[in-house]
Amino acid sequence: MRLVLLGAPGAGKGTQAAFLKERHGLAHISTGDIFRHNLKNNTPLGLEAKKYMDAGELVPDEIVMKMVGEKLNGFAPDEGFMLDGFPRTVGQAEFLETISKLDGVILFHVPDEEIVRRLSSRAVCRDCGHVTSRLENDKCPSCGGELYTRDDDNEATIRSRLKVFHEQTEALEDFYRERNLLFEIDAAKHPEEVFEQVLAVLSHDKD
Ligand code: AMP
Repeated sequence: MRLVLLGAPGAGKGTQAAFLKERHGLAHISTGDIFRHNLKNNTPLGLEAKKYMDAGELVPDEIVMKMVGEKLNGFAPDEGFMLDGFPRTVGQAEFLETISKLDGVILFHVPDEEIVRRLSSRAVCRDCGHVTSRLENDKCPSCGGELYTRDDDNEATIRSRLKVFHEQTEALEDFYRERNLLFEIDAAKHPEEVFEQVLAVLSHDKD
């Protein structure tokens, strides 16, 4: 199964990807995680991406497409994966069509004010990468590790990222609707309830 998880930053794509990885063993490919990993290791790609990430802007298409192209090249034709945070522009979606066939695109709907609320309290575990809320935990609920706040989870950058989502990524809804690949989910709920909807979509997709 090859899926795209589509939605604003903070819509819960990464959390649902972790559930799906556990349940279906699908590989999770997050372009944001790849950039952050590169940045941590001070690679030229990471340093280039940082300029855009800090401003809440998109890394240019050529850079992202090259990176994703190389990553997907390593997958056998029958190997499944979930793309989280890619594509984010119509150009990226057109590129993806040339290198892989998709089984579905799951769109996670969350109102903007809920996104701002979630991202303003979002915290990530330094040890295992688990994502949680500071309103609920002061240590990682999964491994007890220390939590940190992503550099781009501050109110000004959150607002820029949301603007970019509406201006550049939302067009993908129609792009995938026209191709009969779009499944829409109300993601302003608890992660477990959202996952029920994801599983319902996937079982329908198999019929
Ligand atoms: P994310 O972790 O998905 O919220 O991504 C964090 C940041 O990485 C974004 O705000 C962008 O600056 C950059 N980024 C991640 N994926 C993409 C993409 N597909 N196209 C352009 N920029 C991206």
